[in-house]
Amino acid sequence: MLRLALHGGNSVRRGKPWPLWPSFDEGTERAALAAIHERRWAASWPSSGAPSYELRFASAFATYVSAAFAVAVDHGSTAVLLALEAAGVGAGDEVLVPAMTWVASASAVLRAGALPVLVDVDPETGCIDARAAEQAVTSATRAVIVVHLACTVADLDALLAIATRFDLAVVEDCAQAHGAEWRNRQVGTLGDFGAFSFQSGKVLAAGEGGAVTTSSPSAFRTLQQLRADGRTYADDVAPGSMELVVDGTVMGANHCMPEVLAAVALDRLAQLEAQHDRRTTQADELERRLAAEALGIRGLSSHACVTRRSIYELALRVDVDAIGVPVDTLATALTAELERPVYPPHDPLHRSPYFSPSTRPRFRNQWTKDGAMRSVGRSFPGADAYRRSTLLTHHAALLGGEDDIDDFVHAFQKVLANVVALRNTSGVEGRAVSYS
Ligand SMILES: *Cc1c(COP(=O)(O)O)cnc(C)c1O
Repeated sequence: MLRLALHGGNSVRRGKPWPLWPSFDEGTERAALAAIHERRWAASWPSSGAPSYELRFASAFATYVSAAFAVAVDHGSTAVLLALEAAGVGAGDEVLVPAMTWVASASAVLRAGALPVLVDVDPETGCIDARAAEQAVTSATRAVIVVHLACTVADLDALLAIATRFDLAVVEDCAQAHGAEWRNRQVGTLGDFGAFSFQSGKVLAAGEGGAVTTSSPSAFRTLQQLRADGRTYADDVAPGSMELVVDGTVMGANHCMPEVLAAVALDRLAQLEAQHDRRTTQADELERRLAAEALGIRGLSSHACVTRRSIYELALRVDVDAIGVPVDTLATALTAELERPVYPPHDPLHRSPYFSPSTRPRFRNQWTKDGAMRSVGRSFPGADAYRRSTLLTHHAALLGGEDDIDDFVHAFQKVLANVVALRNTSGVEGRAVSYS
């Protein structure tokens, strides 16, 4: 039996480099330089006569997701916040949020002045469970945030039916799902709003950035103002004049996406489909081989309505009871073999160090004793099960060649041939890395 890299043996990978992320090429460099040279580094600055990169990127992105409208913003977190505000969410309201998500989905609710009520997730996908969502609805519930997690899509049929029944706004948090489809329709167009992130780790990376999609012309006008201090885009602009003009029907704040980053995002958008195809081919092959190996590790089974997946992190389901080693330990051993991070999910929000509203004075009104009980005062067995039985790896691992899949399979084989040695390895606390 080969000695694990974790225990001083040779690694499976043996120093071979992995694809680098974020990706860029000469076109990206030219795009960024052009934006720098134009000296309009912010949307709120005199125009050259050409539309801002922010506006050009937003319309290209709307076309990409087949949404009627998109507004570019500074971060994905902001996209969730502004979608909630455009939906009319505010003080005194409750918003349903899955317990298994990046903290931004919940902190956006608090920043909107509302209370995030955590809802358990489907242990297979990690996405919000429709039945649990229905049970959490009260007369104060105004909206539900549906997160399409890692490489899956939430059960939109069931969730949209509940939203209709209880008159809830649906914000799809698509920060991990650009380009995924449900019944051949792109996510971000099925709910009232889609919220996307272009942070460095995401499949469309610009450094920082986000966008809100909507089919409503009035919400589009509201969103523009929310992100640009009450301003909207003028219909046409003369060189040297401002493209952003006061509208004043909604007070906003400055959440504009920087022009240089919007230029980078616009360039990167052109590569997204080819990268999607590469990742999907690699993931399909890895999942097929893991199934054939019967190691107790498999791909997640996705809903029949998912006609296309988008892989932000490839999630694998681990039969931890049969294997007898915690996912945290397996992750550490796999990371050493592969020389790139394999990691368990973040802890669900009800026991996450990231989610601690009591540390922020601004959340005092919502985070009362009663509010905290409403938000987290239940058990979340689906989220706990997902956390203890899932391994994740970042999508960049799937952008290389077939040899990479061989290495993944060999690493799994080797680690699982060494479970006896691993049972004596003390559990490693938390995640080796965090990409979120
Ligand atoms: C990354 C992410 C966000 C936040 O996006 P930022 O651009 O980092 O602010 C929100 N929700 C989910 C599910 C994410 O993964």
